[in-house]
Amino acid sequence: MIRTRFAPSPNGSLHLGHAYAALTAHDLARSRGGEFLLRIEDIDGARSRQELAEEALEDLTWLGLAWDRRVRIQSRNVHAHVAAGERLKAMGLLYPCRCTRAEIAAAATRMGPDGPVYPGTCKRRAVDSEGAAWRIDMEAATSHAGPLTWKDERAGMQRTDPAPYGDVVLLRKDLPGSYHLAATLDDASDGVTLVTRGMDLFGATHIHRLLQALLDLPVPTWHHHPLLVEADGRKLAKRRGSPSLADRRRAGEDGPALAAALRAHAFPAGLSLGEGVA
Ligand code: GLU
Repeated sequence: MIRTRFAPSPNGSLHLGHAYAALTAHDLARSRGGEFLLRIEDIDGARSRQELAEEALEDLTWLGLAWDRRVRIQSRNVHAHVAAGERLKAMGLLYPCRCTRAEIAAAATRMGPDGPVYPGTCKRRAVDSEGAAWRIDMEAATSHAGPLTWKDERAGMQRTDPAPYGDVVLLRKDLPGSYHLAATLDDASDGVTLVTRGMDLFGATHIHRLLQALLDLPVPTWHHHPLLVEADGRKLAKRRGSPSLADRRRAGEDGPALAAALRAHAFPAGLSLGEGVA
C-alpha cells in the first residue's frame, strides 16, 4: 500500500507553498487508496515552537485535509536517531568536528548545494569528540555502500551521488541528530513508501539514499514536486511577506475553496510553479 507524508518543521507559520506540498502528498496517497501521514519535524528545539505545530494542524484541517494514524512528533524518536548515529560511528564512517561556521567558510574551496563544502579539516586531525558535531566521511561511506540508484516518479531513475554535499553533519553539536538522519529514519519506521516533498530537497535525497543503504533501511520511491515561486522565481517564503495560512484562516477565508484553487493551479497573482531551487 502506498503511504505518503507531509513533514513540516514548526519554526514558522505554514504558507501557500506548504499547503501545496501537503495537498500533493495527501492527494497522491488518496488517489491510489493509500495512507497520508503527518510528521512534525521538531528536533531543532531552539527553533521549534509547540504553538506553531498546533497551528499547522489547524491549518491542514481548515484546508480539509485529514491524516491517518497519530501525528508523529519527531523529537519523541530521538533515541532511534542516536542509535543509528552510534551504528555509523561503529562502522567508522563518522568523525567528530569542532569547526565553526566561520572557519569552514574561510577554509572551503568549493560551494555545494547548501553552501560552502566542508574541507575535511577535522578528518585529518585528532579531535576531542566531547560536545563535537559528527560528520559523515562521504567518500568512505559511498565506497562502503557501492553504486546505488533511486527513483523519482517525475524525474525518473537517478544515480546516487551525494559527493557535491561533502562531509555533511549527521549529528549536530547541539542535537543528537540532523534533518538528514532523522527524516530518513522516521520515513522508514513509519513505512513511508512514497516520499513526497518539494524540488528544493531533490539533492538531499542522494544523502538519504546512501543512509538507507548504510543502515539497511527499506527504499521508498520519491515524488519531488515543483515549488510555488514568486514572480522573481524565488521560493515563496513567509519572511518576504506572503500571508500565512493562519492569517488567511483568521481572516475568514474559505479553506476548502483555497485547497480547490491550489489543486487547479489557480494561484494568487504573481505566484506560479517552478522547478528551480532558488
Ligand atoms: N521538514 C522539512 C521542511 O519543512 C521537510 C522534510 C521532508 O519533507 O523531507 O522543509
